[in-house]
Amino acid sequence: MIHDILPHKLFNEFKICDPKPTDYLIRYAGGKTLLKTNTTTEKNEVATGTKVATYNIPRVGELLELEGKSLGNFEGHYLFSIDDTAFFLDDSSAAKTSGATAHAGYEYMGNRTFRSMDPVERLGGATAAHIAHWESQNKFCGVCGNVTIRGDKERSIVCPKCGNVVYPRISPVVIVAVRNGDKLLMAHNIDNPNPRLFLISGFVEVGESLEQAVHREVQEEAGVKVKNVRYFGSQPWPFSDSLIAGFTAELDGDDTIHMQEAELSEATWVRREDIPEYETDVSISCCLIENFRRGFTLE
Ligand SMILES: [Zn+2]
Repeated sequence: MIHDILPHKLFNEFKICDPKPTDYLIRYAGGKTLLKTNTTTEKNEVATGTKVATYNIPRVGELLELEGKSLGNFEGHYLFSIDDTAFFLDDSSAAKTSGATAHAGYEYMGNRTFRSMDPVERLGGATAAHIAHWESQNKFCGVCGNVTIRGDKERSIVCPKCGNVVYPRISPVVIVAVRNGDKLLMAHNIDNPNPRLFLISGFVEVGESLEQAVHREVQEEAGVKVKNVRYFGSQPWPFSDSLIAGFTAELDGDDTIHMQEAELSEATWVRREDIPEYETDVSISCCLIENFRRGFTLE
C-alpha cells in the first residue's frame, strides 16, 4: 500500500528548518504540482514513435538554479522527511499563481500523477500535495475573515486576530469486501476514471462508527445487508484528503443488488475465478480484492 515504503521511513514530526539543495520542492498552484517531465521512447514503441512521459518531483537546488536564485533567497517551509530527504512547500510568488507557466521540461500535473512514481515520491508527493491543498483552502480565518498564518509549534494554521486554529483535514472513509460464498461484491464508481471494478466505499458520516458506516454504505450503494463486519487495515489516502479503513463482511440475507445509480455505474457479484489480478502496491482496495481472490479466509 502507499504507506508501505520500507526500507524507507517517513518522519512527519512538526519542525521548522532550512532546506538543502537535494530536498524535494513542492510548487503547488491551482490544484496541481509542478513536476519534471522525462520523455522516453520505449523500445517496443519506436516503430510508432510513441513517447512515454514519466515524472519526478523537482529538487530545491534545481529550481533555484533555473530561476537564478540561491538558498539564501529560498521562500518555502518544511513539511516532513523521508529518510534524510525533506519535502518543502514553495511559498514563492510562482506558487501563488493559479495556472502559472511551467519551465521547459516541467509541467503542472494533477495528484494522480504521483501514483505512477516510485514509493518515496509517490507517498511524499501525494502527502505534500494534501498539505498544500489544506493550506491553500485556509488562507483566511473561517471565524473572523482575517488573514491566517502557519502555527510555529505544530502543523496548524492560526488566526492572529481571534486565535482560531485549523488542523489538516483528514476525512475518514470505509471500504468493504462483501463476500457471498465464493463471490465478491464489486462496483464501479461513476467518478473513477479507472474502468476496473473495485469495492463499495464511502465517507463516514457524522454520528456513526466505522462499522455503522460500512453497514450504511453497502445498504445505500448496493441495497444488500451485511453481517460479521471485521476490521482489515487502514491506509492514508492523500488523493482525497482521507484515511481509509478497510473491512471484510458477509452478505446477510437476500443477494439481490439494488444499485445506487447516482454513485455507481456498476455493482455486481463476481466469482472468485473471474476476478483478474490486482496490483497491491498502492491501495487497500486492491489488497482486499487480492485477499479474496487468492482464497485467504475472510474470517
Ligand atoms: Zn479569526
